[in-house]
Amino acid sequence: MTTIGVDVGGTSVRAGVVDDAGVVLATAHGSSREDVDDEICRVVGELRAEHAVIAVGLAVAGFVASDRRTVLFAPHLPWRASAVADRLAQRIGLPVVLEHDANAAAVAEYRFGGLRGARVGLLVALGTGIGAALLIDGSVYRGAFGVAPELGHLRLVPDGRECPCGKRGCWERYCSGTALAATARDMGAAESTGREVAQAARAGDPLALAAVDEMARWLGDGLALVADVYDPEVVVIGGGVSGSADLYLDKAVDRYRALMTGTGHRPVARVVRAQRGDEAGMVGAAALAAGWVGGAGRVG
Ligand SMILES: [Zn+2]
Repeated sequence: MTTIGVDVGGTSVRAGVVDDAGVVLATAHGSSREDVDDEICRVVGELRAEHAVIAVGLAVAGFVASDRRTVLFAPHLPWRASAVADRLAQRIGLPVVLEHDANAAAVAEYRFGGLRGARVGLLVALGTGIGAALLIDGSVYRGAFGVAPELGHLRLVPDGRECPCGKRGCWERYCSGTALAATARDMGAAESTGREVAQAARAGDPLALAAVDEMARWLGDGLALVADVYDPEVVVIGGGVSGSADLYLDKAVDRYRALMTGTGHRPVARVVRAQRGDEAGMVGAAALAAGWVGGAGRVG
């Protein structure tokens, strides 16, 4: 049984045919700066020309209503209270299901990666900001209105750095690719990206290493907070910044273990790198589409 997963991001549309073992059989790419509906239909059509599929799942960078039919708000896409699933199902002629991109990535890790078998599993994706998802026995925890858990906007620093969300001191302002660049800049480095700071740290640049250590500290602080709330069994660190996890993850885990309430007297979650890389959203959306058609309504 094969389905198509489509990762609909702020700049690109990436689609793949995925089988029920999570293997990506073929991919197609488009731009979300064009008409997004048209681009999704085009890449799906391209893949269907070569592969028989039974459903389509979309992983969307935005708020998805809890019925998974409507995108409430996607900051980098034109969708506002938009009935995306029904509209595209009609155009494509197959069932279409939506999911928030972090939730979809967590589903991929649960089915085929680092969260396999976790009763309470948490994904923390470090990229431009923090994407987060919580799976309980393999089911996505959405909260009452479909927008949980927004961990990136937990306020860790009163009156800290300004966040585009309107608050100050949000976790992702200190722990993300964007944050890494900001910290290096605050320490006196030239303007650069998080990726460049990580590269400089790898080359042994002392300032870049200090910036990475600072991010490790904030990652540990945030994980300790989150672990006190959810008591997860496994935490998977994903997103683009997880590619440099060898530079910071051990330090972050030491910090996290030291800061948890009752540390030394309770089991602690394993903290591991994501296994499905940047295809996780696509693979998870495809798995959810298969589950939707199967009528399970859940992935576990
Ligand atoms: Zn914020």
